Order: sequence, then structure tokens, then C-alpha cells
Amino acid sequence: RRQVGRPVAMEMSGVSAVDSPGSGSASSALGAPRPSRYESQKRRDWQTFGQYLRNHRPPLELARCSGAHVLEFLRYLDQFGKTKVHTAGCPFFGHPSPPAPCPCPLKQAWGSLDALVGRLRAAFEEHGGRPEANPFGARAVRLYLRDVRDGQAKARGIAYEKKRRKRHPALPVPHARAPVPGTLPGAGARRRPRGSPGWRSPRRG
Ligand SMILES: [Zn+2]
Repeated sequence: RRQVGRPVAMEMSGVSAVDSPGSGSASSALGAPRPSRYESQKRRDWQTFGQYLRNHRPPLELARCSGAHVLEFLRYLDQFGKTKVHTAGCPFFGHPSPPAPCPCPLKQAWGSLDALVGRLRAAFEEHGGRPEANPFGARAVRLYLRDVRDGQAKARGIAYEKKRRKRHPALPVPHARAPVPGTLPGAGARRRPRGSPGWRSPRRG
């Protein structure tokens, strides 16, 4: 395999899963002087992807990028991954914390790839790409991410939350019961922010 822009890619390996797509909206209207963590990560991701395109053989233009190229990019990133993913033949298959080393490959964690694709998808459109031509939104990419998630969940014995809430908390509920006097509104409601993976807590600062 050819070597492509290792320093940049190393930076990519530091991709974190904490910035869920869409979490860093807002603030441009306020003319915020400092970009959020999400915004700066998105900018770095976009630069890395641009670098990948420039180093691609044969050369690849952004305008001609398809979902298949995005998959190629994601697979390329696996070599910089830090997440042990056991093969089906490994005795530690399905163990979240194996007691001994094994020769299974390190890959990018699903959460990192998922967040990365979200940021690049946004960046593509911010750079003038048409939404319907967005390679990061391609069906093949969604399916690939789903496969990676399910495969890693099995290999590492991690149960990702399966239930998706169908409720729409933002919508007003007709005939909602009034709050019982003496209770704080929402005191009992445990809210989990959408898009935050329960298996890793965001580190701020
Ligand atoms: Zn293994």
C-alpha cells in the first residue's frame, strides 16, 4: 500500500467521537469570534479529506467524488485506528476487555467514523456542494457505517442502544397534564441528549 500524507492522517487518528454531528451549529449569526471545537475539528477533517483527494492515484476531484470514494477513504483511515476489533476466529471475540494481547487489527472506532462522516457531510455543503450530490450522505456510506457498528459491537461485546425513541419532545403534546403543584417542571425527566453515545462521555476543555 502506498503511503499518503502520514502526518495529516495521524491527526485524523485523533478524531474523537465526542463531537456529534450537528452539535456545533448556531453562533455564526452572533459573529462568534472563536470557532467551536466542532467547527475547528470539521475544518481539519475537511483539510484532511482534501489532502487525501490530492494524493489519490488516479487524481480525484471533489466534484467527482462518490460514496464509493468515501468508503475508500474510511477504509484507508483504519490503518491509523486505535480500536482493537477481534476477528471471528479470535478467542477474545466478543470480549470488551481481553486479558491478553492478540494479533487482531486495530481500526477506527465506529463512533469516530460516524462523527467524522457527519462533519464532512456538513463541510461539503458549506463549501458549495449540492445536498443531492453529497457523497457523505450516500446510501452506501450509511450502510457501511451500520455494518461497522454492528460488526464492532459483536467483536467487542458492546451493546449499542438499540431502541430509538420515536417521541418528538419538541412538539407540544395536546392535553398535556399540568405539572403537579410542588414539583419542579421536568425534575423527573431524565433527558439524554440526542446523538450522544452512551458509551463514551464527552471531555470538555
Ligand atoms: Zn483478537
